Amino acid sequence: MSHPIRIAVLHFSHETVTFLKNDTTLDDFIYPGSPAKGEALLKFDPKYFMGGFVKMAREFDGVELIGIESPLWPKTYMGSGWVTAEAFETLVGKMIAEVKAEKPFDGVYLCLHGAMAVRGVPRPEAELARRVREVVGPKAFIAATFDLHGNEDEEFLRHADMGFAVKYFPHYDGYLQGERAARTLIRAIKGDYKPAHTTLKVPIITATVVMWTGASPWMDLVQRALVWEAREPDVYVNVFFGFPFADVPDVGLTIQVLTNGNAKLAGEVAKDLAGFAWRQREALLTSTKIHTIQDGVTLAKQAVLTGETPVVLADHSDRSGSATWLLKEIVAQDLSNTLIATIADAAAMAKLKAQGAKAGDPFDMEIGGLVDESAGQPLRVRGTVLNAVEGYGQFWVCIKFGRDNVLILSTYLVQIMEPSSLQPLGLDIDAFKVMAIKSRVHFRRGFHDNSFAKTILLVEPDEPFLGTVHLDALPYENVDLKQFYPYGNPAFGE
Ligand SMILES: [Zn+2]
Repeated sequence: MSHPIRIAVLHFSHETVTFLKNDTTLDDFIYPGSPAKGEALLKFDPKYFMGGFVKMAREFDGVELIGIESPLWPKTYMGSGWVTAEAFETLVGKMIAEVKAEKPFDGVYLCLHGAMAVRGVPRPEAELARRVREVVGPKAFIAATFDLHGNEDEEFLRHADMGFAVKYFPHYDGYLQGERAARTLIRAIKGDYKPAHTTLKVPIITATVVMWTGASPWMDLVQRALVWEAREPDVYVNVFFGFPFADVPDVGLTIQVLTNGNAKLAGEVAKDLAGFAWRQREALLTSTKIHTIQDGVTLAKQAVLTGETPVVLADHSDRSGSATWLLKEIVAQDLSNTLIATIADAAAMAKLKAQGAKAGDPFDMEIGGLVDESAGQPLRVRGTVLNAVEGYGQFWVCIKFGRDNVLILSTYLVQIMEPSSLQPLGLDIDAFKVMAIKSRVHFRRGFHDNSFAKTILLVEPDEPFLGTVHLDALPYENVDLKQFYPYGNPAFGE
């Protein structure tokens, strides 16, 4: 090719918990740094999809990346519900207008998640791809990266050419998938890769907490995909576990296989993976033990007595960040040397900030709860302010209470994935015997896969609130659970 290869780069990601009452609004996507364009967009996430994509793309001569002004993750992170039609239309409208103004393009990279849910748009990622295709024309290639929690079906690849999803949960391979997207996209533009793909839905739906790929058979499913990629050059396998807390038509497990011009092979590999997942369906759903909150706290106490510390108590089900169930039980069973991170309470944070809260202040407030029933009741905590700081786009207050316990309050939902991330708050991480956090699997990155914690306990409240493993307790309108194992008896592959 004589002219430089021009690739438009766009980002639009959210994992939408549609059962949360607070919509994700246009305002949530707009904050210092977001939207981002040009080099700022290309550099915003150097160790993940975007970083891998940009690094690899720039290893080729004559490739020009154009960062189209794109929203980054909303400031509510994953703690907000339906993306409003206004947010989607405004943000996508601006992106499409800019692509139109900057064209022609040989390729487009869409940096996505896959579990965004938008009011009135059943498949937002596919809709974005459709609109991009309309502008760039049939000859340009469109590649995307996805989270394995993406809810996808064949619709996306009707408009785009290729997708690359992370395989591990925790998602260790975002950078790698970004690199693959860049290399394969550029090869396609040069005529060296002709995307041929198959997408197969497997009727299995499950809560995300059980999807840890460090345990069988999730681990085996990943391994089987890796084996296919190793034995057949140019084969890429996506295993979308799906995101059940988005009430959208394309939920559930999805296998997607991409090959270089070999549609038959794509079909065979997809069928193999789908059949394997289906045969393992019972084990897939029972590979992780979930305790009641009461039992979890009792077991944590026992682990402290036997020295199996630090203990992680993970309330996997809290989707608002405001749930007080675990804190309440920790107080009731009088745990000591326990860190609770975090309870989100925007109103309390605004009040404390206005008061100029500082270290040494006495603290006596009702915090958390009430966002919806899943968050429980607000809880009165009396103690002393250890620290009050602004950082990572929100306000944080640490409270010392009880027998050497520390409660961290935050403005928004926070998922603690690494103990070291708490150090900027001035906490001595080693002083805690128990760490109570809000995470399902991502915490294993910094607490489990590096041998930090000796005991891991996953808990959820007795009642099947939002975030529960009991999906049949959720008010789905767009999903018929009976079409999925284990809630119905769907026929598959026999
Ligand atoms: Zn994910």
